[in-house]
Amino acid sequence: MTGTTVYRIVWSPGSDRLVGVCHCGADQEADDPVRLWQWLLAHPEHEAMDDRE
Ligand SMILES: [Zn+2]
Repeated sequence: MTGTTVYRIVWSPGSDRLVGVCHCGADQEADDPVRLWQWLLAHPEHEAMDDRE
């Protein structure tokens, strides 16, 4: 790696939800990848989504 900002979006095991992990270590579950990307790109001001269970 060359220090590029890294985001990861993976499927949450055992469910149909997505989990986004920011390079800062914050993570967030969502069922909408668009919202998940918006959350990731909001770094460093991540806000909790209101659709969490
Ligand atoms: Zn972050």
